[in-house]
Amino acid sequence: MSSEPPIKQSDTTFETINQMVWKHLCDRDWDGLPPRGIATSIALEAAELLEHYQWRDEPIGTKDELAAELADVFIYCFEFAQAMDIDIAEAITSKLARIAQKYPAQAFKGKTDKEKKAAWLAAHHGARAAQQHTSKK
Ligand SMILES: [Mg+2]
Repeated sequence: MSSEPPIKQSDTTFETINQMVWKHLCDRDWDGLPPRGIATSIALEAAELLEHYQWRDEPIGTKDELAAELADVFIYCFEFAQAMDIDIAEAITSKLARIAQKYPAQAFKGKTDKEKKAAWLAAHHGARAAQQHTSKK
């Protein structure tokens, strides 16, 4: 698989989106909502996206409808970041680095499903637990 992502995103920066979301909120006096409510809204919008897959692997609805639900999730994410003083790009960069350390690419890339499962178990429960689990099979 290529290291290039299959879908190229537009060049709009996180900061531009951040400003657009903030203006949208301020224009409506929606800029002081509690973080708990915003976090709840992220989960609810994620559920609306998931609803398109409730009964089938193929989504019910159009790509535009899926994009709108995904946008809802991201808009609330930017709103939550504002409420909690979180730099999203920094948070993602930091989190990806932690994930890469926990799930090293060489433990997964080109491995069998069994090897991937063992690597996942080792990351979560330690190498000994992974070895015990895989030796049962
Ligand atoms: Mg929605």
